[in-house]
Amino acid sequence: MTTIIQNKELKPLNTFGIAARAAGYAEFRDREDLDAILADPAWKGKPWTVIGGGSNVLLTKDYDGLILHPAGQEITEVAHDEYTVTLRVQAGVEWDDFVRYCVERGLGGVENLSGIPGTAGAAPVQNIGAYGAEVADTIAEVGAYLPDSGEIHTFSNAECRFGYRESIFKYELKGRAIILSATFRLSLNPVFNIGYGDLEREVQALGGPSLENIRRAILSIRDEKLPDPKVLGNYGSFFKNPGVPQELAEALRVQYPDMPQYTASEGRKLAAGWLIDRAGLKGFRLGNAGVHEKQALVLVNYGEATGAEILAVAARVIAAVEAKFGITLQMEVNVW
Ligand code: FAD
Ligand code: NAP
Repeated sequence: MTTIIQNKELKPLNTFGIAARAAGYAEFRDREDLDAILADPAWKGKPWTVIGGGSNVLLTKDYDGLILHPAGQEITEVAHDEYTVTLRVQAGVEWDDFVRYCVERGLGGVENLSGIPGTAGAAPVQNIGAYGAEVADTIAEVGAYLPDSGEIHTFSNAECRFGYRESIFKYELKGRAIILSATFRLSLNPVFNIGYGDLEREVQALGGPSLENIRRAILSIRDEKLPDPKVLGNYGSFFKNPGVPQELAEALRVQYPDMPQYTASEGRKLAAGWLIDRAGLKGFRLGNAGVHEKQALVLVNYGEATGAEILAVAARVIAAVEAKFGITLQMEVNVW
């Protein structure tokens, strides 16, 4: 039995803490719930969208439609062999609860993604990544309900078309697929991936590589570097790190010898936070919104910021980086 709540306040449902209202709000666990919600005569034909943990959506206005919120909490083992365990995880499971679940059972593959806010159902949407790992590396398949056809489709990893913070769910299927579950293939013999930044040093200080120590080290680095959304509203990285062609990267290196550059699938990846810092906007503030003082890639809500104020800060950042480096930053967050 599903209930549709009218005139729902969304402030507690987004980590920036932006006040906005939705005409309707309903929680779903499975296909039956969605069938019932979307067939409700009062809501049939109205727009809908999904909000999980709200840690990657920028609300700029009230929503005249239905917010669907995943509530399924099951983690089910679907296969097991000598080397791997395959787990199906319902969309409403907290992502970091799932990571802890795996680490506690000695299952490797998602430990570098410790501490990322949000739900398991949203993890494939932007192919969450951190500390040299991407969720695409462990996803076997994603089960989604497609309201246009009323069908459930199981997307293989290849069909998800994962890229750097991208997937088919963020583009072609935006607003057309509701993820019910994601299935992960985890390793019983994990290969530790600690080559990123200071991670190895932190892990050694905790006694050497293990799933537990990698998780502990990452949680501690994240705690130190990133503002806690419960204290200072934010969405983590607001912009994507730009990929640039090799020749441009080399020209920039001549002009800015200390510019961090990383090998990427096409050319090089630059650190957006560094570009913003060097464009002079670290700590920049406009009304209630601003660029975080320690991590320039993170925009923050200093009080009662509106979505429009955040967008105004984002526009200043984009213009400043463009003027200094000739590079146009793209937003990582989903704006609506
Ligand atoms: P939401 O913000 O609720 O939704 C994000 C998008 O996915 C929306 O377009 C929404 O419609 C869609 N969506 C959500 N659930 C579903 C579903 N079930 N079906 C279909 N569409 C759906 N991201 C990283 O990649 N790496 C990081 O290290 C990282 N660190 C962060 C740190 C902080 C402090 C914060 C605040 C954010 C960080 N993020 C990071 C961003 C964010 O946590 C991830 O993008 C996360 O996956 C969003 O999950 P969510 O449930 O909050 O999604
Ligand atoms: P950081 O370690 O200070 O590094 C700054 C940027 O440089 C990162 O964005 C990272 O790109 C890139 N980078 C650093 N070392 C790299 C390496 N060895 N190989 C390839 N790229 C490298 O960044 P941070 O802010 O503290 O974040 C640490 C990790 O958590 C990063 O992976 C970051 O993506 C992730 N994170 C993501 C969000 C989000 O909302 N998306 C928020 C917080 C943290 P990548 O981002 O491509 O790794």
